[in-house]
Amino acid sequence: MRAVNPATGAVIREYEEHSPAAVRGLLRASAAAFAAWRRVAVPERSRLLREAGRVLRAGKARYAALATEEMGKPIAAAEAEVEKCALVCDHYAEHAARYLAPEEVRTDASRSYVRYDPLGPVLAVMPWNFPFWQVFRFAAPGLAAGNTGLLKHASNVPGCALAIEEVFRLAGFPDGAFVALLVPAAAVPDLIRDPVVAAVTITGSEPAGMSVAAEAGRALKKCVLELGGSDPFVVLADADLPAAVRTAVAARIVNNGQSCIAAKRFIVEDAIHDDFEAAFVAAMAALRVGDPRDRAVDVGPLARPDLVADLDGQVRRSVAAGAVLRLGGRPVAGPGCFYEPTVLSGVEPGMAAFDEETFGPLAALVRARDADHAVELANRTTFGLGACVFTRDLARAGRLAAEIEAGAVFVNGMVKSDPRLPFGGVKRSGYGRELSVHGIREFVNAKTVWIA
Ligand code: NAP
Repeated sequence: MRAVNPATGAVIREYEEHSPAAVRGLLRASAAAFAAWRRVAVPERSRLLREAGRVLRAGKARYAALATEEMGKPIAAAEAEVEKCALVCDHYAEHAARYLAPEEVRTDASRSYVRYDPLGPVLAVMPWNFPFWQVFRFAAPGLAAGNTGLLKHASNVPGCALAIEEVFRLAGFPDGAFVALLVPAAAVPDLIRDPVVAAVTITGSEPAGMSVAAEAGRALKKCVLELGGSDPFVVLADADLPAAVRTAVAARIVNNGQSCIAAKRFIVEDAIHDDFEAAFVAAMAALRVGDPRDRAVDVGPLARPDLVADLDGQVRRSVAAGAVLRLGGRPVAGPGCFYEPTVLSGVEPGMAAFDEETFGPLAALVRARDADHAVELANRTTFGLGACVFTRDLARAGRLAAEIEAGAVFVNGMVKSDPRLPFGGVKRSGYGRELSVHGIREFVNAKTVWIA
């Protein structure tokens, strides 16, 4: 398994994959750890989670540098990501006891109640784009609930996978409570089938999600799918234009454009479309592209060369279908996986930039006749992860929020995840929820106890 710096193309380090025998040993360790961990009281689990938060904060510089080196995230964003991981540990440390408390229900019994018991070792198949955050938002609630964690991380971030395992070890979690498996995607079906694995969660692309869901179905195991998105960013005629433009740029280039909840289709009401376009193109043109370790840089590289080729293909196909290139549109010459901040206007359904998830600094501008048309266009996608609406009319924003098919609608702000709020999608963005009480309840047995 090879970690390659996408800013330079240099090999950082090679890691030996776990052999099938080593994987079997790690699965056994996870099962053994679960047998004891499930009986550890929630306050003690919470204490260890707080420790994990402390370890993360103490090691922030090192962990952030690792993420930046392996996948190209700008260093300040990598630091913020590590901080957020500590926050989700704190969140579940503080609230797990309440989220998991038995609930009394009045029935014909003398007493009946619902308990939330753990399921067992949960396999997490994770992506490289938020190499710490994606893992912690599964691991913190999972461990708090009494499950153990088995991580199959993306193959291009093996250093991050081992660093996360280290965080839990340093925090004092028992051996086997959280294990990183260095295995390729091809090993996932066997892992899902293994009797040790109780359930599976995947954050990744549609093809990976379909494969994991099919395998989990065959094995009759619970799964949660956090997949791709083509989030609409709706700007109505009465919006605060400078704020909308500022937020639109930030929402598109977050994580070098490689976020499931990055805004991808900018659907702008006709009356302000051209003003929005002029200001947006100017702001995108002013972005600094370069070394993600440089704090003055806004946009680092894409994570792998194949992602540059994919994005470039989407630009070419969209232009061939009639979109107008307003800015950028090419890979940056030289070493590394850099792509120019790019704006296409006149984008419509049927074009790649509208129909497909675009993972990089490529913005698609779409003209809407009015608010109803904007909603229709927002929903004209197979995805349903997040959405933004910019308008000064909050009553109308509320009506639009009800109409938009997405797991989250943010009004006058960019879509983000927050440990206090559920996160997930509808349609081909997946099913199930992470974070908040909803996330911790995905991988528990809601057990009825009825006493005559
Ligand atoms: P990916 O290629 O699907 O990889 C994600 C993970 O799945 C990796 O660990 C990968 O392993 C594994 N994988 C790939 N194909 C698989 C298969 N057929 N069966 C089982 N596992 C498989 O996705 P990515 O390029 O890393 O991440 C980008 C995608 O993730 C985007 O679509 C993005 O929108 C989505 N995402 C969604 C969310 C969300 O919360 N909804 C958050 C972040 C990202 P290898 O690395 O070994 O191939």
